[in-house]
Amino acid sequence: MVGVRTSAWLIAAALAAGTIFVAATAGAGQSGSWDAVLRPAPGPARSIGSYANGCIIGAQALAAEGPGWQVIRTSRRRYYGHPAMIGYIERLGRAVAAAGLGTMLVGDIGQPQGGPMPNGHASHQIGLDADLWFRLDLPLLPQPARETLEERYMVDLETLEMRPEAWTPSQVKLLRLAASDQTVERIFVNPAIKQALCAASGPDRNWLGRLRPWWGHAAHFHVRLRCPADSPLCLAQTPAPPGDGCDEVPGWLADMRRAMAAPPPAKPAKPVVKPPLPTACLALLAGGSDLSAR
Ligand SMILES: [Zn+2]
Repeated sequence: MVGVRTSAWLIAAALAAGTIFVAATAGAGQSGSWDAVLRPAPGPARSIGSYANGCIIGAQALAAEGPGWQVIRTSRRRYYGHPAMIGYIERLGRAVAAAGLGTMLVGDIGQPQGGPMPNGHASHQIGLDADLWFRLDLPLLPQPARETLEERYMVDLETLEMRPEAWTPSQVKLLRLAASDQTVERIFVNPAIKQALCAASGPDRNWLGRLRPWWGHAAHFHVRLRCPADSPLCLAQTPAPPGDGCDEVPGWLADMRRAMAAPPPAKPAKPVVKPPLPTACLALLAGGSDLSAR
């Protein structure tokens, strides 16, 4: 454990000094895997790298439940995030409870030290992304019962029409509350959902700009927070264009219809070459791999 502490301390020191950590990293990526890490790296919270290529020191675990929320699939151990994200979900849960919307279902946030996941997400690597489900109809459940919940689609994915039996004013309120928090950078929703929100919203449209159309995201929405001030190595995303973003929706829906009509590709797509993780993350994994299975 001394090695672990030393390694974490060195990284913290390098971060505090604003320098790039230059410990030997050869082979660090092979020495452990991020999903095998069981505990957060100790130290003040630091999100390192980009949302889709990074890691986190000092992540905090979200409690399995609280006022207005319950974490689902806790066995996946993906309920760790930057304290800014934990605070955001707790705040949103309280607002959901106060509005009488029901109990919000919290899906994946990130692994104890972030990093790439073996399945499910390209991003969620620096503790600043979280998936929240749209369905609000379930009471607080015992944890085992939260492992196998059924997703409820807000959109008919064959027609891209909204499903009125699922999409109700409660979902609009939930998204509005979620997007109105100033720590939010953007929220990904299916383009059909964005279209429905654009049609339903009145003159107060500022919050709509943070809702960005994206593939999928018909049963859950994905909240992404801004890089916190405590994380100088967090790589911010190019800001969304100003305005409510409703003008982008027809193009997105046309793209989706084209993709749905296209035959599946004849041969597998070329493998994507991923950039290496930030040096500080590789060093963390090299030292932090000892944190697993203890
Ligand atoms: Zn997500």
